[in-house]
Amino acid sequence: MSIQLDSKQFNLLIRHAEKTYPEECCGIILGTITHDTTRTLTSDRKLVLDIMPVQNIWNEELAKDLPQIVDIPSRSSQKERNFFIAPEDILHAQKEARNRKAIVLGFYHSHPDAPAIPSEFDRAIAWPDYSYLIISLTEEQFTDVKSWQLDRERKFQSENIEIVESKENT
Ligand SMILES: [Zn+2]
Repeated sequence: MSIQLDSKQFNLLIRHAEKTYPEECCGIILGTITHDTTRTLTSDRKLVLDIMPVQNIWNEELAKDLPQIVDIPSRSSQKERNFFIAPEDILHAQKEARNRKAIVLGFYHSHPDAPAIPSEFDRAIAWPDYSYLIISLTEEQFTDVKSWQLDRERKFQSENIEIVESKENT
């Protein structure tokens, strides 16, 4: 599986991550899944339609309650190392996707001064079938982006990111 973004969407992700630094940014990715039958091996491809930046609502209460619910070590209340997307934002994104004959493909967040590799916490709160894009920054500057999806053993496997020229530029 691969995920395809255009350059405009990609720049939006990076700008959001850089603007939110040193805190983690987060957002929702809308799109569709297409069958690519032109290849010898039939492969599915996720096509990003839109990026919806949302607020990181991580707070002291979540830091206290969530580790008990998902059974992980305690977390700090800092947004520099945690993120959480409000359920209302996910619901809104699902409605928006339906209106546009699309689906929620996944979610993105940033790792300020940390590699684009999911944490144990990222894994604990992840759902199957969704893409999890992580944008890595070093001192406010974008350094790396990776996309991850859970496999059947609930382990994250990386997926290919393809960036194509934005249609509006051509
Ligand atoms: Zn993370």
